[in-house]
Amino acid sequence: MPDTQFWWLIAFPIFFGLGWLAARVDIKHVLSETRSLPASYFKGLNFLLNGETNRAVEVYVDIARHHAETVELQFTLGHLFRRRGELERAIRMHQKLLARRDLADTQRQQAQFELAQDFMKAGLFDRAEAILTELANTDYARQARTELLAVYQQEKDWHKAIETARQLRDDSHNYQHEIAQFYCELAVQAHTRSHTDEARAYLQQALEANRQCARARLLLADIADAAGDKQGAIEQWLLLENQDPLYLALAARALLNAYDALEQHEQGLTLLLRLLQQYPELDVLDLAYERILAQQGLDAAYAFVRERMKTHPTMPSLRKVLEAHMLVAPDDQKVELEIIVKLLNDTTREQSMYFCNHCGFKAKQYFWHCPACTEWEVFAPVRGRKNRLHQTESY
Ligand SMILES: [Zn+2]
Repeated sequence: MPDTQFWWLIAFPIFFGLGWLAARVDIKHVLSETRSLPASYFKGLNFLLNGETNRAVEVYVDIARHHAETVELQFTLGHLFRRRGELERAIRMHQKLLARRDLADTQRQQAQFELAQDFMKAGLFDRAEAILTELANTDYARQARTELLAVYQQEKDWHKAIETARQLRDDSHNYQHEIAQFYCELAVQAHTRSHTDEARAYLQQALEANRQCARARLLLADIADAAGDKQGAIEQWLLLENQDPLYLALAARALLNAYDALEQHEQGLTLLLRLLQQYPELDVLDLAYERILAQQGLDAAYAFVRERMKTHPTMPSLRKVLEAHMLVAPDDQKVELEIIVKLLNDTTREQSMYFCNHCGFKAKQYFWHCPACTEWEVFAPVRGRKNRLHQTESY
């Protein structure tokens, strides 16, 4: 029927009218809110937006003094103090809030959570821990546990860290990498105390948590190596090939030393060259060159790096070729070659660093736990590589 086809001609103005009414009501509401806020609130906001935190804090402290009822403002101030490193002021602000009798439960929990963060930033981990533990059965339980996990890692209380990580497990994050690393930390502690069996048991638990845990495998090899069981150590290292062969680079020197101890120098070098052939990214070129030079002489080492340069024309290959070339070049060319190698080293300095794939932190040393962002297993075991590729994408 034509009538029903034109219903919207009537409906449209009605909807329009309703929308206009709603907008007016909203604007009125906002205006009344605005009138109830002191003008200095906006002044403070302006300072904040301009990055002038000091002046913003002055303004807000003044408002807070005259409007003691503004709980949210006190939270904002406490947060600002903490961010600026004024931890005493932040702590005092949150303690004052907690002393109030008119706080709602959620506000009290929020104040506790904020205070715990102040204590953490001040390095008072035991006090932070006490408060965070109290929050275990509140709406802040998950946030509190996440912070507790950080506390336990700071305190190197790995047992509690494992327990907390297990409680935090959910579909988005299963914490298996972290839990395996915590077991590795326990193993390192036990090994340092010469409790070898205990260390091995922790490493088995690490591998149960994460069967790809390269660190656990490397530690098992180290323990065997330290006990003089060179064959056992080699077996452990070789198991890494099925996990993530690139981590073999971290143990390559110890692996060759183990073959040396067994008087199997040739087998060691053959294995190393086979691995390098199979996993071109394996960070052992320097070691392979050094070994060939020592075991087979300069001609063999030079030929090896020239061949490598052809198949894998990378900066590390080029550097190695130039280094070898310097040894065979006539004296009058050596000065220039030295300058070239030095320039190359200067411009490719980053190639000799390990990178955190999470925060970009770089270091000469390899870390399992990034000192900058505190994430675990975020350094690629290949120097100069800024992106950790998945194993299946590596070769
Ligand atoms: Zn990092």
